[in-house]
Amino acid sequence: MRPPIIISGGGIIGSYISSRLSRHNIKNYVVEKRPQLLEKSNKIRTLTLNKNSIELLEKEGVIIKNQNVTNINVFDEDENKLTFNANELKLKSIAKVVVFDDLQHAIETKINKNIIYDSEISKINQKNSNLDLEIKNHSPISASLLIGSEGRNSNVASLSNIKKDVKNYHQIALTFLARIDLDEHTAIQYFSDNGIFAILPIPVDRLGNNFSIVWSIDSSKLLLNTKDFVNENITFFEKKLDQKINIGSEVLNFNLSSHHFFDYISGLTVLIGDAAHSIHPLAGQGINLGLADADILCEELIKTFNNVNNYSISEGLKSYELRRKTLNKIMRSSMDLLLLIFSNRYRPINFIRAIGLKGLNKSNTIKNIFIKHALGEYRV
Ligand SMILES: Cc1cc2nc3c(=O)[nH]c(=O)nc-3n(C[C@H](O)[C@H](O)[C@H](O)COP(=O)(O)OP(=O)(O)OC[C@H]3O[C@@H](n4cnc5c(N)ncnc54)[C@H](O)[C@@H]3O)c2cc1C
Repeated sequence: MRPPIIISGGGIIGSYISSRLSRHNIKNYVVEKRPQLLEKSNKIRTLTLNKNSIELLEKEGVIIKNQNVTNINVFDEDENKLTFNANELKLKSIAKVVVFDDLQHAIETKINKNIIYDSEISKINQKNSNLDLEIKNHSPISASLLIGSEGRNSNVASLSNIKKDVKNYHQIALTFLARIDLDEHTAIQYFSDNGIFAILPIPVDRLGNNFSIVWSIDSSKLLLNTKDFVNENITFFEKKLDQKINIGSEVLNFNLSSHHFFDYISGLTVLIGDAAHSIHPLAGQGINLGLADADILCEELIKTFNNVNNYSISEGLKSYELRRKTLNKIMRSSMDLLLLIFSNRYRPINFIRAIGLKGLNKSNTIKNIFIKHALGEYRV
C-alpha cells in the first residue's frame, strides 16, 4: 500500500485537496501551523468566488452564506465606464461574495480528522519513490507525495529550493466593511489617483454592514495610521457615489506583491495555490486560481492512485504543471496590464483607453470572452 499524501498548510486550498482526495479514498494528512481549527473571529476579509469555484466547493458539500453579484461597474479616473450585467450576458450570476472565515471554517471542519495542528514540515528527505518527512511536534512520516499549500510564504518551497520571480507593487490594500445605500447586487470599482477602490456586496452582517471595501493605495501615501487615512480620504469616493460610506469595522491592511515559481514541482514535492503563485487582488481572482489548480491536481492524482494506464505520480505532477502554469502566468500578467492601463495618467494612453472602453462596453461578445475567463470556464 502507498504511504499517505501529506499536505502542508490547511488553508482553503489545502483543505479542499484533503476533502476531495478523502472522498476518493486516498489517504492524506494536513500539517497545519495554527494550533487549532480557525475560529470565525475575523469577518472583514471577503472572497469573490467564480462559478467554477462555487461548483467545486458544492461537490465537497461546502455551501455557505453568500451574496450574488449580478452587475459590475468599472470606472477609470475620467469616469469612463465599463459595465457587466448578468442578464445581458445571459447568466444568473457573475460571482458570489463570501466571508473568508466562513469558507475556511466550513471546509476545515469537513477534514478536521485529517489535520495535525500546531505543526510544520522541518525536513524533506526523498528516498527513491517515497519521502521521509520530519515534522515539528510530531514523529516523522513517510509520504508518497508532499503538497505545499501554505500560502505566500511556503516553507515547503523554501525547503525545496525552488526559485521564484517576485514583484513588489509598493502598494497597501486597506480592507474594511461598510454600510452604503447602494444596489445590493452591484459591485463597483474605481481606478483613480486616490487608489483602486473596490466595493463588493456582502451578506448583511449583524451590524448592518452590506459592503466590503478593498482599497489599494501607494504605500508612500500612507503617512497616517490606516483608520485616520480612511476617514480623511473617503469623501473622494463618497462624492463619486453620491452616497455616505459608513465605516463599520476596523481597517485591515496587506502589503501587495505578486510572485510566481519557475517550477511547481521538485521530485515528489509540488506547490499549489498562493504557495505557487500570487497576483494583485484587483480582480479578486486569487482563490479562484488556487481552486482551479487544486481541481486539476486532484484529477491527476485520482488517475494515478487508481492506476489508470499505469500513470505514475511524476507523470501526474508534470501534467498538473503543464495544465496550470501558463494560465496562472497569463492571469498574473493580465492583472499587471490592467494596472498599467487603468492607473496611467499619460494623456495619449488615457485617450486610447477611453475609446477602447467605449467600444468594449458596447460589445457583448468581447465582454462574454472576459467573463468566461473570470468565471473559470476555460479549463485545459
Ligand atoms: C487584500 C486581499 C484581498 C483578496 N481578495 C480576494 C478576493 O476577493 N477573491 C479571491 O479569489 N482572492 C482574494 N485574495 C487572495 C486570496 O486570499 C488567496 O488567494 C487565498 O487565500 C489563498 O489560499 P491558500 O489556501 O493558497 O493560502 P492561505 O489562505 O494563505 O492559507 C495557508 C494556510 O497554511 C497555513 N500555514 C502557513 N505557514 C505554514 C507552515 N509553515 N506550515 C504549515 N502550515 C502553514 C496557514 O495557517 C493557513 O492555514 C485576496 C488577497 C488579499 C491580500
